Amino acid sequence: MLPGEITRRCEEVLRRVPGHVTVLAAVKGRGPEEIRAAIRAGIHHVGENYVQEAERKRPLVPEPASWHMIGRLQRNKAHRALGVFDWLQTLDSLPLAQRLERLLSQQERDLPVLVQVNIGREPQKAGLLPEDAPEFVRKVAGLPHLRVRGLMAIPPIPRRPEDSRPYFREMRRLFEELAAEKIPGVAMEVLSMGMSADWEVAVDEGATMVRLGTLLFGPRP
Ligand SMILES: *Cc1c(COP(=O)(O)O)cnc(C)c1O
Repeated sequence: MLPGEITRRCEEVLRRVPGHVTVLAAVKGRGPEEIRAAIRAGIHHVGENYVQEAERKRPLVPEPASWHMIGRLQRNKAHRALGVFDWLQTLDSLPLAQRLERLLSQQERDLPVLVQVNIGREPQKAGLLPEDAPEFVRKVAGLPHLRVRGLMAIPPIPRRPEDSRPYFREMRRLFEELAAEKIPGVAMEVLSMGMSADWEVAVDEGATMVRLGTLLFGPRP
């Protein structure tokens, strides 16, 4: 899609999304020029699903933005991921957390992370089952260089936007439950849920970040 059209779409979305909700541009399959247009339009968070794609594109995008890993991260790519991402939204395993902790401690830096929850209990999907999330968050809280900043979820693909509402509602409940625990070192600030098809329902149910691809960039090539 032409940069001008992307700018127009991004500006329109930013007008519609309430001020307390952060828009993240999901950029899988999009080129550097498309990403640059989104950032210039005022979107400051970029989400990529693959380490290798982020490594290729980020050097071609000079505009300042935070880059978030929103795809599954394999443990053997942890080191490369730290080289190119500012946030990890898909933390869901202790071995990965421990590997990251070791690398971060060597590099003397912290990494903000979201814990991914498999809210639809889909066998093929990443993320912790909701009942396992609190114990996992408590364990990650003990790793000083990983900063848990919230939760992320990808509910089952909805036929209609309303199909996602019960999942979003359950995520918000879990988010508030964990916030109320006041676990030292954990800040429940970001609830990342809602994509192009259902972002309005997500905002309605308390999302603080929506991840949008198609709505900003058009259908994927
Ligand atoms: C692709 C993707 C999105 C955006 O999807 P759209 O339906 O194009 O808005 C959001 N989150 C994740 C994790 C994705 O992989």
